[in-house]
Amino acid sequence: MNYEITGHTGLTALLGSPVGHSISPQMHNEAFRQLGLDYVYLAFDVTPQHLKDAFAGLKAIGIKGFNLTMPLKTAILPLLDELTPAARLAEAVNTVFLRDGKYIGHTTDGVGYMRSVEYAGYHIPGRKMTLLGAGGAATAICVQAALDGVAAIDVFKRNNGSFAKADAFFRKLADETGCTVRLFDIGDTTQLRKSLSESVLLTNATNVGMAPDTDKSPLPDISLLHPGLVVSDIIYNPRKTLLMRQAKEAGCPAFNGLYMLLFQGAESFRCWTGQEMPVELIREKYFNS
Ligand code: NAP
Repeated sequence: MNYEITGHTGLTALLGSPVGHSISPQMHNEAFRQLGLDYVYLAFDVTPQHLKDAFAGLKAIGIKGFNLTMPLKTAILPLLDELTPAARLAEAVNTVFLRDGKYIGHTTDGVGYMRSVEYAGYHIPGRKMTLLGAGGAATAICVQAALDGVAAIDVFKRNNGSFAKADAFFRKLADETGCTVRLFDIGDTTQLRKSLSESVLLTNATNVGMAPDTDKSPLPDISLLHPGLVVSDIIYNPRKTLLMRQAKEAGCPAFNGLYMLLFQGAESFRCWTGQEMPVELIREKYFNS
């Protein structure tokens, strides 16, 4: 398909620091090309110190929308006109889109995760899940799962200096969504065993097992897994984490974070263009594991 930059080409972008490693420019530009959409997606190295000026400049030239990565996901919050419910609850933004002259902040990590679970063949609304980690990705997943009607979410994190703040966050999320969200110490193996025995899905949203520490797992004991539990690791480097190998040994189906990455991009694309990303084409080209 013919695809050229024209005098009408709409700008979309990734802002963050660093951004050079990101697959997003290839993914979005290929999707624009496939659908014949007159947009381009570029990556800009922007630090928090320069975010205000960068956003003012991008607004002045009428940017159609953009993604934000580390370390800008919270720094952008006070600069936006509005937030979607997911971004407001998660207190973080990774996607900004333009609607009726307003720049609206959204978070697509949770939507991407929930779509990846469906794509893998599992339906969890109305059921219970166990979530390991309480950082940026875990928070976005927990918010979207609660908004999508997951009945209960047991979250486990280290009992360190950020525990009390995380606990207050999840209590507020439970109050606002009606989902039963509870936070536990990840060192409490008895509670972890109980939570997993009641759950249909275990999600690892910690860094544990990510390259180069591929010999580590967030699960202290493989006997915590039970047949019928689906194990999902949002890490995608390596493609097969130690947790996924433990799941296989215990007879549990497992999948990695590649499709979360694909579908969070697809949700940003939908916000900017109003069209569905051709995910099968993009998956084949960039996400074959
Ligand atoms: P983050 O905000 O830094 O959060 C990291 C979480 O991991 C925290 O809850 C932290 O615990 C926990 N953690 C770190 N080391 C631990 C350890 N040794 N034992 C137990 N818990 C530990 O990072 P993030 O942005 O949420 O990313 C987390 C992971 O998700 C990364 O591997 C990242 O690559 C992956 N990710 C994947 C996608 C995707 O599209 N597939 C998207 C985003 C992120 P504390 O709270 O106790 O500090």
